[in-house]
Amino acid sequence: MKGMESMSEVLNVEKIFNQNVFTLGKMKERLPRKVFNEVKNVMDHGGELSLAAADVVAKAMKDWAVENGATHYTHWFQPLTGVTAEKHDSFVTNPDEEGKMLMEFSGKELIKGEPDASSFPSGGLRATFEARGYTIWDITSPVFLKEDATGVVLCIPTAFCSYTGEALDKKTPLLRSMDAISEQALRIVRLFGNTEATKVTASVGPEQEYFLVDRKNFLARKDLIYTGRTLFGAPAPKGQELDDHYFGTIRERVGGFMHDLNIELWKLGITAKTQHNEVAPAQHELAPIYNTANVAVDHNQLVMETMKEVAERQGRACLLHEKPFAGVNGSGKHDNWSITTDNGVNLLEPGKTPNNNKQFLLVLACIMKAVDKHADLLRQSASDVGNDHRLGANEAPPAIISSFLGTQLSKVLEHLEKSEPEDLMLAGKQGMKLDIARIPELLIDNTDRNRTSPFAFTGNRFEFRAVGSEANCASAMLALNAAVAEQLKTFKTEVDAKIADGKDTFAAILEVLRKDIKECKAIHFDGNGYSDEWKAEAARRGLDCETSVPVIFDNYLKESSVRMFESTGVMTRKELEARNEVKWETYTKKIQIEARVLGDLAMNHIIPTATRYQTSLIDNVYKMKDLFPADKASALSSRNLEIIEDIANRTNFIKEKVDEMVEARKVANKIESEREKAIAYHDKIVPMLEAIRYHIDKLELVVDDQIWTLPKYRELLFIR
Ligand code: ADP
Ligand code: MG
Repeated sequence: MKGMESMSEVLNVEKIFNQNVFTLGKMKERLPRKVFNEVKNVMDHGGELSLAAADVVAKAMKDWAVENGATHYTHWFQPLTGVTAEKHDSFVTNPDEEGKMLMEFSGKELIKGEPDASSFPSGGLRATFEARGYTIWDITSPVFLKEDATGVVLCIPTAFCSYTGEALDKKTPLLRSMDAISEQALRIVRLFGNTEATKVTASVGPEQEYFLVDRKNFLARKDLIYTGRTLFGAPAPKGQELDDHYFGTIRERVGGFMHDLNIELWKLGITAKTQHNEVAPAQHELAPIYNTANVAVDHNQLVMETMKEVAERQGRACLLHEKPFAGVNGSGKHDNWSITTDNGVNLLEPGKTPNNNKQFLLVLACIMKAVDKHADLLRQSASDVGNDHRLGANEAPPAIISSFLGTQLSKVLEHLEKSEPEDLMLAGKQGMKLDIARIPELLIDNTDRNRTSPFAFTGNRFEFRAVGSEANCASAMLALNAAVAEQLKTFKTEVDAKIADGKDTFAAILEVLRKDIKECKAIHFDGNGYSDEWKAEAARRGLDCETSVPVIFDNYLKESSVRMFESTGVMTRKELEARNEVKWETYTKKIQIEARVLGDLAMNHIIPTATRYQTSLIDNVYKMKDLFPADKASALSSRNLEIIEDIANRTNFIKEKVDEMVEARKVANKIESEREKAIAYHDKIVPMLEAIRYHIDKLELVVDDQIWTLPKYRELLFIR
């Protein structure tokens, strides 16, 4: 069995962990003390590394990389394409007279790159004639070695900006949002007398769901290759109804995949921790231990890339699409999120003392208020073409954003809201009387969990469940960070005003807290998020129930969103507008590709195959006539005739719809505005894809299996 080959080959995880990472430890070993201290200081407190220090770091980095077989380096970044980008440069330099060459890498090359990046989507932020974009080293995310067919490459995580400083990637605004939340949260902890903390860090633990299918089957399905999902396919006779896959025993082949994947991830310093089978057949999950938001996002991108590579190596294909198969669960990326001070206080962890609980409740209320105010924006931060099939589709979280707190915490909030402020003060102490003695033990109790909530409090963190499996979770996390930063700032401003009016600090906090709790009640919902009653109730509460993704994208440009992003310094209006252009454009293009693939397959595979089967049935009917008297022949042929007619009806329908879809696309393509075009694609083309699919799935069920060459759900999901 894998992993148990022989005693001499026992896997030593401690040894391989971080093998391919230029860790702080390696820097300490290899850098002069002074340079190391400078690096550490920039890492912890920001600022810029001097060029002299950068040269020393670059050399040490290169030496380490070359010792480990590296020939190239790359600035590794995350443009708005949704996938990572890299452009390799070797360390090779001009040889001297005698032909000797020395591998080199300078501080300048480490800190800043200038890729010719004209072809990345920028939403109009860069005209191609002045396409300069810069990649800038993110010193807080460790440099690593990537091993692939090109050899070993030194990868430097970078942020990607335009010449004029606008963000062209996912990382830049994420880093800005982390600064914003740190600044505002620090002001709050100072209110409570914490003078030690120097920053507050947002952490993320993304749980990654995925499907594993056989590579041969994958390659036989052009829809999977081009769109990442099946555009048709009748349900397999067995789906997930027996719940026998979820947490089930891991099969040998899947186990082999997880084993190799873990090794690759550990080498990259990624703390692959939990693995299990998920609800749908062929669906699995991997969760690392949470990390600082930007590192967690970088790692998650690597997790997704590594999953694909390892799968390919093993004759499988890893599907990361949010909904590869209709009728069974789709895949998400639950983002567990919390904020912690650098002196070790998780602001989402209920404290042991009344004073700590006060701080915890304040932060909690601010988060609820932020989610209430920007629910539509958060929904949008997790929306795209793929996730559209999942959100609200009765399995993943509903499309309406609400927040779950659990019974205990709900009671605490209710108590706070209903009590008179004087009754809440503990005489003499700066504490608060809560009718529940000790919140912590009660909260961590896992039984009080609600799987249907898109934004659930789970004891010491929130779990944002709306994020899609294929998404770069930076988008969702930066929106959350920024929204909470804004609210923390508002809270502090309101408290300060009351204090200036002569109110006691605690009384001021309490007053604002109680007001906020009352104001954000609409977002709080502990019931079943999948139920129809909730949809009706949410509409009554005035929550955002929009379901069209291109229209949801508008939320980024609402005045409240722009104000929030600008006031926290996370994004400018111009950047937001550019991002939206890219979102609409991407939406259209993805549906366009789906429409082309489905149209092609329908015309040159489905219809010909169905017609061939139909022809054989027609032959059969004529043969019956030769063999039997007319009456008997027609009686015996009745089933064949039914199928012949059925095939004729369905293939005619499919042909007409495909033609109609081509025409509808031509009309939509003429639309100038990216937004209107995306809406046309959503309103006109998407329903056609569904209608065509319906008839293809019916044909799949009647046509001779021998001539239906495309792998079916029963093979895709069960040959594993
Ligand atoms: P679940 O039971 O929700 O499936 P998992 O164990 O799959 O839980 O994943 C939980 C994730 O939450 C892990 O990545 C874990 O490291 C992360 N996590 C735990 N505590 C925190 C925290 N305080 N802040 C952020 N993430 C956290
Ligand atoms: Mg999990």
